[in-house]
Amino acid sequence: MRRPLIAGNWKMNNTHHDAIVLVQRLGHELAEHDLERTEVALCPPFTSLRTVQTLIDADRYVFSLGAQTMHHEASGAFTGEVSGPMLASLNVTYVIVGHSERREVFGETDEDINLKVKAAFKHGLVPILCCGETDPEREAGDTEAKVERQVREGLAGVSADAARKVVVAYEPIWAIGTGKTATPEDAEATIAHIRRTLADAFDDGLAQEVRILYGGSVKAGNAKALLGRPEIDGALVGGASLDAAEFVAIVKAAG
Ligand code: PEP
Repeated sequence: MRRPLIAGNWKMNNTHHDAIVLVQRLGHELAEHDLERTEVALCPPFTSLRTVQTLIDADRYVFSLGAQTMHHEASGAFTGEVSGPMLASLNVTYVIVGHSERREVFGETDEDINLKVKAAFKHGLVPILCCGETDPEREAGDTEAKVERQVREGLAGVSADAARKVVVAYEPIWAIGTGKTATPEDAEATIAHIRRTLADAFDDGLAQEVRILYGGSVKAGNAKALLGRPEIDGALVGGASLDAAEFVAIVKAAG
């Protein structure tokens, strides 16, 4: 059984003061919820990681902590960057790698992303490897080829022992922040293709273990239909993760 994961990607939102308010509200509203059954991860900006980690420790919230990106080198002259050991020392569990905004806005390539995936594993972090097609790629029928390439290249040279821990997030770019969502059937079909890709690149047992999330305008209103599909193991949530009531409803929809 794959444990559902609902991960909130706050993107470049919330000061550390805002983070305190949001995390305390989530902690309060999910206090009675079975978070052993459904895992909840919070991915604030770097400036709030320490704040959220301290709250999780002090108030014993059952939330995992995630970062939104990292540099592949452990240290050095990379002004503005943050490394795997820095994240690991804050008890960060997950790091989002290859989000479409990193790919499209900051020009990250599959090769860069592969270096980050390997560095994440090396420093004891679990990458949430994102993949997804643009609208023209979808129209051209290229969705499966695109996500297959991104997953294969993202995990190139990674051992099966490490790869079985990865989380993959299928995020159609046309659905991110737009209010448009893939139908549960389409999202599930692409996720099934990602699972076949993992089986081919590694083995079937590994493919059955890896959690594959859907992301792209997940909200309280559509979460149940998406998360009810057996192949969809959770959600990477952007906009709706900034609203405590919406996010809590998505977590509850996962079970
Ligand atoms: C995301 O940023 O990963 C995302 C899915 O955003 P949104 O939920 O706002 O579409």
